[in-house]
Amino acid sequence: MGTDSSMQPLGPGDRGPAVADVHAALRALTLLPAAGSAEEASLDEAAYDPATELAVRHFQQVRGLTVDGRVGEETYRALSEARWSLGDRLLHHDPVRPMRGDDVTNLQDRLHELGYDAGPVDGVFGAETEAGLRAFQRDYGLTSDGTCGPATLRALRQLGRKVTGGRPQLLRQSASFVESGPHLIGRRIVVDPGHGGTDTGFTAGETTEADLVLDLASRIEGRLAAAGATVYLTRGRHQDPTPAERTGFANHARADLFLSLHTDAHSSEHARGVASYYYGTGSGASSTVGEQFANLVRREVVARTGMLDLGSHPKTWDLLRTTRMPAVRLDCGYLSHPVDRLLLLDARLRSTVASAVLAAVQRLFLPAEADPPTGTFVLPGRS
Ligand SMILES: [Zn+2]
Repeated sequence: MGTDSSMQPLGPGDRGPAVADVHAALRALTLLPAAGSAEEASLDEAAYDPATELAVRHFQQVRGLTVDGRVGEETYRALSEARWSLGDRLLHHDPVRPMRGDDVTNLQDRLHELGYDAGPVDGVFGAETEAGLRAFQRDYGLTSDGTCGPATLRALRQLGRKVTGGRPQLLRQSASFVESGPHLIGRRIVVDPGHGGTDTGFTAGETTEADLVLDLASRIEGRLAAAGATVYLTRGRHQDPTPAERTGFANHARADLFLSLHTDAHSSEHARGVASYYYGTGSGASSTVGEQFANLVRREVVARTGMLDLGSHPKTWDLLRTTRMPAVRLDCGYLSHPVDRLLLLDARLRSTVASAVLAAVQRLFLPAEADPPTGTFVLPGRS
């Protein structure tokens, strides 16, 4: 199922001031042509027409958002953030309402290129961005106030691009994983069963996605804990935390790894298989460890269950982007597909998936020479 959203999404057929706002954002990004003044004399007349939908789809595609042609909470925020370019405003750290935008992404990118650790390139001006900016200002003889104003911008623009190729911060992220020992003792892993409480996710007969992924999460918790890891679940049966609460929990727990669990569903009953998602825009910034784990976990699940391999994909969902550790979402089969559903309803298959996740986590944390062999194909019913 798609990402959680509490805002009533805008889509084809809608009209009014909110649609006018979307038009303005799309025009600023030159995704829609400038409108004649007579065309939308009244904001109430602004209509979500096919051209709007096409432009929104294009924007979502480029941004690594779910492409549905509608403007929900995430797309709306991404549209607002895309309006900012570096130099439009003073950038500084506001702990209460952190500044977000493409100008922040640009600044973080620039600092990383110059060799400063400004935290993840996520477009959110946090404490790490401030620390990186202050370090840069100190080194270049500027007032080290952590605010990106005209003088700092000038300095950033005057400096040539010194680093090409891999991003230093991402390389550091890989290195810390290599150094951190051969077992899971001391590893903190947050497992996030999707939905919960009144949000059941997709429902197939008496089975809800929410219950299924909670069961799966408990099995994974058991396997990982037995291997020495410390495991936290983001919710119980009756809770439905917001995405921000889920990622906040993982950040607060200082987790080493975050795994969100969903099953998928589609109106076509032919859709089936296993997909995984990691943070990335598809054109540049991404989490290398996240991508690595997304591939490992999907391959292990596919190898052990025989479910269809739908690949790993970069996404900019908040769940992946606001977690400060490598984060992956696994969509384990389609509850709307007759065979996938039968498999998922089998408790032994769910135990097999838990074993696959354990193997993937071990592969991620174990040094290469201790790599266990790839999972064996186990038919449910025989394990
Ligand atoms: Zn879901």
